[in-house]
Amino acid sequence: MSTPSICLCCREPAVEEFLDLGTVPLANALLDAPPVRAAAEPRHPLRVGYCHRCHAVQLLDLVPPAQLFTDYVYESSFSDAFVLHARLYADELMRRLRLGPDSFVVEIASNDGYLLKNFVDARVPCLGVEPAQNIAAKASVRGVPTIARFFDAATAALIRRERGPADVVIGNNVLAHVPTIVPFLGAVKDLLQPAGVAVFEFPWLRELVRHLEFDTIYHEHAFYLSLHALRSAAELAGLELFDAREQPVHGGSLRVFLQAQGAVAAPRQPTAEIQRLLELERQDGLDRPDVYRAMGRRVRALRESLRALLRSLKQRGHRIVAYGASAKGSTLLNYCGIGKETLDYIVDRSTVKQGRCAPGVHLPIFGVDKLLQDKPDYALLLAWNFADEIRRQQRAYEQQGGRFIHPVPEPHVLGEAAAAAQEQHA
Ligand code: ZN
Repeated sequence: MSTPSICLCCREPAVEEFLDLGTVPLANALLDAPPVRAAAEPRHPLRVGYCHRCHAVQLLDLVPPAQLFTDYVYESSFSDAFVLHARLYADELMRRLRLGPDSFVVEIASNDGYLLKNFVDARVPCLGVEPAQNIAAKASVRGVPTIARFFDAATAALIRRERGPADVVIGNNVLAHVPTIVPFLGAVKDLLQPAGVAVFEFPWLRELVRHLEFDTIYHEHAFYLSLHALRSAAELAGLELFDAREQPVHGGSLRVFLQAQGAVAAPRQPTAEIQRLLELERQDGLDRPDVYRAMGRRVRALRESLRALLRSLKQRGHRIVAYGASAKGSTLLNYCGIGKETLDYIVDRSTVKQGRCAPGVHLPIFGVDKLLQDKPDYALLLAWNFADEIRRQQRAYEQQGGRFIHPVPEPHVLGEAAAAAQEQHA
């Protein structure tokens, strides 16, 4: 391998590059209009590596956080599935950790308060920490106490001073965003009371590798975590893993439970589930570099097959659009080099995105109604993690002959097998 890079997690020079997704714009940096000059749109290298020492899969090139969050697009409450997942999550935590009016729950990166709202309704005292000012303000308006700050050691000290230590610290889809993961987990430990519990949920690397979800890689995500890597990072920060569970959101996530190392106040024994999940990761080779080298080759092959599929549809005179102006869509389109020559436009439910255009490829974004009005032949699903929900909402589009293309792990047209079977019957 070429010269290894320093690991963001264990600080050893042991990171091997296995995937180069090109020099691409920030995935969430939607534009108000196509730039007059290409140079007006900043681009950054997007390369991924594996640490031979602590197993952390990570970006090799970081963009300063201030740049990443300047154009943050608010979206959490736009998905029905996500709101439901949050309610079940809050209910489970309240039951399992016996939370009540004397407890104190802190959520890091609490967004518009969609999760904490459930604690407010159950009269469990809580506080959200959300770096984006406008989004923190939305949370406060809906009755969820929120401070507009990045979470770090200083924020942990401030909360402890003003509100006391926390019984629970929750981080939903935040760990992967933090390049300084070990000091970050150290600050979480400092905020917890001695018997406190930290609960984190993050997209599971096993799903990314198995289903080739390479489009979930973008600059906002410094880490792609396995349970092996999470355990290493937690130990370096003085925390220990005592439970882990699979979750069916975001194409497959893990929820992990941590406590202070050697916690005397409430020693919780590690569950058998941890060993089972670690064993699954070993079976899939997530602790070995060859699996990642193979993944790099599979991603390059997927790019070729997706381009070939779209090209052949175009040659047959079909019109193609895309569904979901998501960050993963930005990685997919920019890496695969799919733009205006192939797609007419993107549709998205979020009114914040409509009227703007997608980074790099500069496709215009319209509301989802356009799908039925305009009746394009195919819609490439860029938000494939919500495929079932989208197909339910857009049943009329499919009934009128429209077809969705699912890009990963192998590009395929949804419903086509079923349609062919029906024709044979007829
Ligand atoms: Zn490492």
